[in-house]
Amino acid sequence: MNEDFIPMAKPDLSGNEMKYVTNCIKTNWISSQGEYVERFEKNFSDYCDVTHGIATSNGTVSLHLALKALGIGKGDEVIVPNFTFAATVNTILHSNAIPVPIDIDKNSWNLDPEKIIENINEKTKAIMPVHIYGQPCEIDRIVEIAEDNGLFVIEDCAEAHGAEFSGKRVGSFGDISSFSFYGNKIITTGEGGICLTDNNDLKNKMEKLRDHGMSPNKRYWHEEIGYNYRMTNIQAAVGVAQLERIDSFLEKRNDIYDLYTKELKNIKGIETQYDFKNRKKVNWMYSILINENEFGKSRDEVREILKQNKIDSRPFFYPINKMSLYDEFTNGKKYPNSEIIGRKGISLPTFTQMKTQDVKRITKTLEKITDI
Ligand SMILES: *Cc1c(COP(=O)(O)O)cnc(C)c1O
Repeated sequence: MNEDFIPMAKPDLSGNEMKYVTNCIKTNWISSQGEYVERFEKNFSDYCDVTHGIATSNGTVSLHLALKALGIGKGDEVIVPNFTFAATVNTILHSNAIPVPIDIDKNSWNLDPEKIIENINEKTKAIMPVHIYGQPCEIDRIVEIAEDNGLFVIEDCAEAHGAEFSGKRVGSFGDISSFSFYGNKIITTGEGGICLTDNNDLKNKMEKLRDHGMSPNKRYWHEEIGYNYRMTNIQAAVGVAQLERIDSFLEKRNDIYDLYTKELKNIKGIETQYDFKNRKKVNWMYSILINENEFGKSRDEVREILKQNKIDSRPFFYPINKMSLYDEFTNGKKYPNSEIIGRKGISLPTFTQMKTQDVKRITKTLEKITDI
């Protein structure tokens, strides 16, 4: 059989992307000034129901910008999940602060609020929850813990555009929230990111730090050691077009989620994402756990067989404590849930233009694997 390769992700650029990008080129506004940046900031912050948006070059520097704007630096501790993409932890180190990775909850795969409390001390300054694989974390409880202890909350929403907790969009809970618009995220600007906040002072601080720490009133007069973290008008043009279709993107991703879940329902040894009553997750990458004993093959064996069948997949993130790079922050601590989930987890292809037959080819392949 000569079947096509099914990739993990594929951006859908079939809306107004070409038109708006062409407009940037025709009008010469290709750098970080121009109408699309402000439009994107306004439209995306409105979408999340937050007052201000500060667009950035990517979703890693937006996390760094948030930490800097909150004054987090040397000697400060920031609580972060042990199970996340490394950028979350690295930006704490870029700020010269100390990451405190803690274990996750076994159902949500996200920060466990009770473990946060155990890890707060006089050096703790912030909590950096991540809404992993489109699943909102227990953000109301996390904000409550932060308020009780005088801590900041920076939400990493890179994988959860449009997800909701108690009817409110993620990104609207923290002091600052951060999104990524990398090519495989739910909406993309190629590379890109944004910080959202309701606080006017934090907005001004972030805008200044994003632009070399320059005084907004005096050209070339620098008041802080800043950065160049600006988004270009071309990136923003793509973003404005993407955002016009976010509802239909999420709907299609939801349909793909439902189809996968239905087709995999009767296969033993596959555990799908948990459904919480008051949380609306989004399907960034269809993510499941393979229980080797029941399924008959390990996660890595499954990935190999999928590959032979021209189907792409991703292993889950390696828990931070497994990488020796981070030993000094994880030594002596136990992370049973992250380790189990990191070892069993696999993400399957998910993109808006995926066809029913693509999903079924993948689920049929998984079904066959169990019989081998
Ligand atoms: C993608 C991602 C980031 C980083 O975003 P980039 O735009 O690629 O720099 C940060 N955190 C999480 C959880 C991510 O998935």
